[in-house]
Amino acid sequence: MKRKAGQDRSITASWRPATRAIRGGTARSEWGETSEALFLTSGYSYDRAEDAAARFAGEQVGMTYSRLQNPTVEMLEERISLLEGAEACRTMATGMAAMTAALLCQLESGDHLVGGRAAFGSCRWLTDTLLPKFGIATTIVDARDPQAFVDAVRPNTKVFFFETPANPTMDVVDLAAVCAIARERGIRTVVDNAFATPALQRPMEYGADITAYSATKMMDGQGRVLAGAVCGTRSFIDEVLLPFTRNTGPTLAPFNAWVVMKGLETLDLRIRRQSDNALAVARFLEGRVKRVNCPFLPSHPQHNLAISQMDAAGPIFSLEVEDRPQAFALLNGLALVDISNNIGDSRSLMTHPASTTHSGVAEEKRIEMGVTEGLLRLNVGLEDPADVIADLDQALGGAGL
Ligand SMILES: *Cc1c(COP(=O)(O)O)cnc(C)c1O
Repeated sequence: MKRKAGQDRSITASWRPATRAIRGGTARSEWGETSEALFLTSGYSYDRAEDAAARFAGEQVGMTYSRLQNPTVEMLEERISLLEGAEACRTMATGMAAMTAALLCQLESGDHLVGGRAAFGSCRWLTDTLLPKFGIATTIVDARDPQAFVDAVRPNTKVFFFETPANPTMDVVDLAAVCAIARERGIRTVVDNAFATPALQRPMEYGADITAYSATKMMDGQGRVLAGAVCGTRSFIDEVLLPFTRNTGPTLAPFNAWVVMKGLETLDLRIRRQSDNALAVARFLEGRVKRVNCPFLPSHPQHNLAISQMDAAGPIFSLEVEDRPQAFALLNGLALVDISNNIGDSRSLMTHPASTTHSGVAEEKRIEMGVTEGLLRLNVGLEDPADVIADLDQALGGAGL
């Protein structure tokens, strides 16, 4: 395995994003393959016993076991960190493995975390159920208001954890303001950037310390594999995150890493086209349903903030109809768009969060975060948006809208 000539950070970090997405991290075997090789191996062999001992002692460069290192996985990690503009990245088996590791690796009993109210259901389970079980106190705030973070800070606050835009309400967090509040107080920010990806929003440019991803979503982007990633400084990844993940083992499989790496090559193209398609569909829906929550529509209360920190809308937005029966009637009337709780796929998918992704969140918390019985979340894919609009048009008609 050789890093291709020119893969020094001093050169790759000067590449523009499209070049990083295609060539970042590439290391070639003796065969000189153009597409990155897939190393389906759990272990590695050594020429001499002394080499094994030296590698375990960290005195020799090389791999020891695929829970710790794998050439295909490392290529993906280098590519993601370059796209993110981060010093380092560690991938994980799923987005939730990434969120869990990013928090547990740096928190301990007696610490305090401030989390955003609008969040993916399992992220709320982490902040509301898992962390408190281990003596880590959490305060949940309306993350749209930076002052809410200031008010929630305690002397033992270690981490701010939030997503923007948030799943599925599309609340937007002011990255620059909230990260500045954290920095001034020595608090680390962990931003779940799954909706925007580094193609549209790079939280570290606004002062975020750590970004965490469900790479299952737009990074793979074609609904094939689950994957996660955590980006941060070299010292955070190596000294704080790695001891946790090496020993607990939420490692990404090489095959899934390879699939995500291929996905990254078209991330920018896909997310920009899907953003255009999503905006066209959102504009069609506006006025036809009770509400459309899309940060790139001027009707979104945080429109100006969204356009200042995101390059495009992204493929996902939510909409509100009257109640659960009407939401279900709309879903059941769809012929092209699938009823599916996944997002970031090249296919258009629609789900009813209250009964699926957020069904594990207690009803009063759901209502508080804006996940009402009439809320639907739509991922707009790469189909011709006119076909998606026609399908929604007939399904809305069937639901009496
Ligand atoms: C999907 C998602 C996750 C969880 O990712 P998995 O890959 O499904 O484990 C976390 N955060 C957000 C915002 C998500 O959309």
